[in-house]
Amino acid sequence: MTSILSIKDLPLKDKRVLIRVDFNVPIDSHGKITDDSRIVASVPTIKYALQQGASCILMSHLGRPKGEIDPKLSLAPCAKHLSMLLGTPVQMAPACRGAKVKKMAQDLLPGSVLLLENLRFEPGEKNPDKDPGFAKEIASYGDVYVNDAFGTSHRAHMSVTTLPTYFPDHSAAGFLLKKEIDFLRDALENPQRPFYALLGGAKVSSKLGVIEALLDKVDALYIGGAMAYTFLKAQGFQIGSSLCEEELIPKAKELLKSKTKIHLPEDHIITNDLENPRQIETVTTEDGIPNGFIGVDIGPKTRTNFGWNIRRAATILWNGPLGVFEKKPFSEGTFAIARSLSNLDAVKIVGGGDSVAAIRKSGLAQHFSHLSTGGGAAVEFLEKRTLPGIEALTKRERK
Ligand code: AMP
Repeated sequence: MTSILSIKDLPLKDKRVLIRVDFNVPIDSHGKITDDSRIVASVPTIKYALQQGASCILMSHLGRPKGEIDPKLSLAPCAKHLSMLLGTPVQMAPACRGAKVKKMAQDLLPGSVLLLENLRFEPGEKNPDKDPGFAKEIASYGDVYVNDAFGTSHRAHMSVTTLPTYFPDHSAAGFLLKKEIDFLRDALENPQRPFYALLGGAKVSSKLGVIEALLDKVDALYIGGAMAYTFLKAQGFQIGSSLCEEELIPKAKELLKSKTKIHLPEDHIITNDLENPRQIETVTTEDGIPNGFIGVDIGPKTRTNFGWNIRRAATILWNGPLGVFEKKPFSEGTFAIARSLSNLDAVKIVGGGDSVAAIRKSGLAQHFSHLSTGGGAAVEFLEKRTLPGIEALTKRERK
């Protein structure tokens, strides 16, 4: 594992610190932030920099504005919210670059905070090669660089991988990034055993690397969600019209032969139509899912048995919902597993995205050791044990 600089290694007094944060939060049509956890998670790094006598220039993206200004995706509500969390004013820049913004950055006094406007209003954020001047311009605003945006660190974007090249000796991880790396790395390298993993979500293909990496590490792997159907079909069960990646059936057969046991659902909630579910039934894996029906959630037996089996875990890692949890009738399996996990006395790590959303929605967040702020980033880290944004930071000198 690469050893990288931490914010604690940087000179901060009287410096302007460029901090890549992840303020990609859900905001409703009234401009209200409906889940502020990512902003809350960035506070320790910002507070630390301010206490050390620095000023902070914060950068983030929000949503997918396609390289154009979209007022609905302004970060202004985040500036207001952060200001309340910090108890200090946060200035909102009118754009993410330009002479006016540069002047605001240069005029910052120690202890003050400036949030740049949504980086993705510029096409150069996602395509740094097309606009090399963008990183150079932003680099000129600050003296040192900190990445505290774990959720974006799997992307080779301007603010994640290009900007730090302008600070070859002064690019460091913030506290949130460091915490994310430490939890996931410890789980992979030094887990308390038994170590179980629970994977759900839509596609085997997007998590194939993780499945293979985890099979080497865990004592048992539990698979639910749509992913399970490719494996069940590989075992010869009837899966009706459930999501299945036919081309991965040979791979699924191979994985099922691995030394580590893969547990699959033994029953299912099925429906005739996901959008307009007139018929909702429960069937066992043995009986099979009839043609014209899709498996949309783990059934009651699976909820009980998965919940019962994992109770012995000393470490448990969960990524991906076990059903179409966005739709009320099909969310019960995911919530039942969230409840079972919350009752366990184990190191419980949840790898971002939908599974974290489910836990927060059920009010169980305080029962988990670590809820990752990144979905895709957590999955890629579990597979590769590093991320482009981590690799871009200054390496620590070996003593
Ligand atoms: P992922 O991003 O791969 O973790 O996938 C999350 C998505 O998987 C969510 O939008 C779920 O609705 C979806 N999902 C989970 N289980 C199923 C299922 N049985 N059928 C269809 N989609 C599912």
